[in-house]
This record gives sequence, structure tokens and C-alpha cells, in this order.
Amino acid sequence: MKKLTLALVAVLSLQIGGCATTTSKSASGVERRQLLLLPERHVESMSLQSYQQTLKEADGKKTLNTDPAALARVREISNRLIAQTPVFRPDAKNWKWEINVEKNNQVNAYCMPGGKIMVFTGLIDQLKPTDDELAVVIGHEISHALREHGRERMSQAYVQQFGLQALAAFVTGSAGTAAVQAAGMGSQLFFALPNSRTQETEADRMGLELTARAGYNPESAISLWTRMSKLGGNKPPAYLSDHPADEARINDLQKLMPKMLPLYEQAKAK
Ligand SMILES: [Zn+2]
Repeated sequence: MKKLTLALVAVLSLQIGGCATTTSKSASGVERRQLLLLPERHVESMSLQSYQQTLKEADGKKTLNTDPAALARVREISNRLIAQTPVFRPDAKNWKWEINVEKNNQVNAYCMPGGKIMVFTGLIDQLKPTDDELAVVIGHEISHALREHGRERMSQAYVQQFGLQALAAFVTGSAGTAAVQAAGMGSQLFFALPNSRTQETEADRMGLELTARAGYNPESAISLWTRMSKLGGNKPPAYLSDHPADEARINDLQKLMPKMLPLYEQAKAK
């Protein structure tokens, strides 16, 4: 059985580029190989659907892009970061990037697969970040998308839940209607899974490089996470449970700083 599973993994890997790394080598040193069994287009179309639904709902509640100044600021910072994404993967310049701001008291921001960015006003109002600090948060979120952490998580969870045979049938289109429906349901369930700690570290490191290359001060990552950890007193924001701003995290960022500061100086000189 184990042999069969291994053989299937091999076949799937060959067929759909299963074990690969999503991004090029860069100063941040993020180059782990990833299990990416679900097709990229599948994950992207799901995220597009979900993003459009979010925009529609926010529009209905009159909470979408209600603050023109905040929107302009978030778009300016995001666009500077996005301009640097081809350093990590050339295809990112063809992504249909979208940047929106939702009026919502939660401290939160995300970038969905394929470049769909959302920043909540709670992040801006409660944290009161500088432009550099805001760039660190958005750079972190963009890095999750560049690394396709969502697709990786869904691939892992899918294999655990349904097994490789179901995945193979789904991916090759040989599955019956029921299997395809199950696959779709599975994907929806896995869509919201939190990032692993490894993925968080990668997003921190790549995000820091993105920030520096875009001409924002990478050292602001330290003040950002320190201040973030103090938000909310004994009722910290949910964002912090996925993004604990502990000493290990700050040390890891600090260690990369000698490599990041020259990139920042170069970007500023341009
Ligand atoms: Zn994260």
C-alpha cells in the first residue's frame, strides 16, 4: 500500500509539478520545496470567487472603500510592493492584483492567491502604523500569496482527508460527479486553514525583503510586531493568534536585517 502511495505521489508530482518551490532564490533565503498537488488555477478561481463575494457583501453593507484617504494610502503602498514581486516570481507581474479596504474594526489584512488584497480599517485605526509598518504587514501578506501557502495547505489537507487516489482522479478529471463534489467541498473546508509556523516564518522573511526593495524601512518590522503584540490588552486581536509577535519571531527578523538594509538603501537611492 505504501508503495502504491509513493508511486502515486511520483506520478502526481510529474504530472502537475507536485514538489516544487513557488519562488526564485533571493536574499531572504526562502527556498523550501513545497507539496503543491492541487492545480494553481483551481485555487486561484476559488479565491477569486471568495474575494468577489466579500467585495459584494461589503458593498451591500456600505463598508467597501468608504475612506478615500485610507484607500489611496493602502493602494500606494501595495503598488510599490507589487512592483517588486517579479524578483521572487516573474509571473506575478501578470497577476490581476486588486487592492481594497474594508471598514471593519478587526485588526486584519490578507492577500489571497493570485493577488487579491484586503486591508481592514481596524488595522489602521487601532495600530496607527507608519507607512513603513503598514508596508511590513502588506508585504507579509503578499508573500503568503507569492509562496502559494494556501495551495500548499490545501494540498496537504486534501491528501490527508481523501487520499491520493481521490486527488489523482480529481486532478486528472477522471473522477465521477460525486468525487468532484467531494473535492470541491474539501477545498472549501481547507480554504480557511491557518498558515503553519514555517509558512509564517517564510512570509516574514520574504515580506521583509519585499518591504526593503520597495524602499520601506525593514527595521519597522520590529516596532510593528512589538506594538502589535501590545494591542487589545487581555483580548488580543485574532490576527495575533496566527501571527504571534514573540521573541523568536522578532529575533528571526532581526537576524536578516544586515542583508535587508543594503537593499533598502539601494531602493532609496533610486
Ligand atoms: Zn501570516
